[in-house]
Amino acid sequence: MKFFLAALLLTATAHPQQMAITFDDLPNHGEKPPSVTRVEIAQSILETIKLEQLPPVYGFINAAKVQADPITEPVLKAWRDAGQPLGNHTWSHPNLDDITAEAFEAEILKNEPMLKRYMPDQDWHWLRYPFLHEGDTLEKRRAVRVWLVEHHYQTAEVSMDFEDYLWNAPYARCVAKGDTAAIAKLHDSYLATADHYLTVFRTLSKMLYGRDVKYILLMHVGAFDAKMLPELLALYRKQGFSFISLQDAMTDPIYADDPDIGMRGGGAIQELMMEKRKLKFPPNSKPYKELEATCR
Ligand SMILES: [Zn+2]
Repeated sequence: MKFFLAALLLTATAHPQQMAITFDDLPNHGEKPPSVTRVEIAQSILETIKLEQLPPVYGFINAAKVQADPITEPVLKAWRDAGQPLGNHTWSHPNLDDITAEAFEAEILKNEPMLKRYMPDQDWHWLRYPFLHEGDTLEKRRAVRVWLVEHHYQTAEVSMDFEDYLWNAPYARCVAKGDTAAIAKLHDSYLATADHYLTVFRTLSKMLYGRDVKYILLMHVGAFDAKMLPELLALYRKQGFSFISLQDAMTDPIYADDPDIGMRGGGAIQELMMEKRKLKFPPNSKPYKELEATCR
């Protein structure tokens, strides 16, 4: 019995870090190889979610994409058939830095009929801000936040982000060229960057809150994201993480502490808090130039 308890404690202390996984831009994101369909990309992600036995994974939708390309609508059906929930990412993914609060609110409302259709009995009142832009002025930020509360929305915050989407376009180009060596490099840099930003966001959390938080990872429904998801989850598990739902993650009190600043360009919650408190970021970098040049 003592051994059993000790083993239990060891398990608990070996995996103290927690993270919710979320996907943006359903039904489609970014460039893809012509050999794979949008539904196949979603199915691949959903199969990994099932195999890994993840808690519910929210997919945030832009219904304008379904209207523009009706062939993508089965992505939403597949997501729901797999038992995964959908949330609101606005109708057409506008940049709140460039439009009024009223125009942004209309974008949220215009997206709702599609959510009602696919989530008749479940809670779709979760907003993920496009680009994580939450308002370039404090006045605009506050106006949208008040509107969200009045309309029973919660913000699906982000506290872990390595700009996963950057790899999708170079991957599509490399597949078209049949450049397997370049694809192997994309594989390595994707995982290395995810690992690097795991450290960066944990460092930010310790600077701001003195501890690890219940993290919320931002992902996108891209072709390379689907391909890399099993290895990405393995990396997080190796670093001591287990996976939780968005609702569970949002119980962390850090998400109730609104940064309450206008900030052009936006960011994850720790990035806004760092800006508010005028703290200096630890060194960090992403391979923007390398990715942009890959398979040209
Ligand atoms: Zn998005």
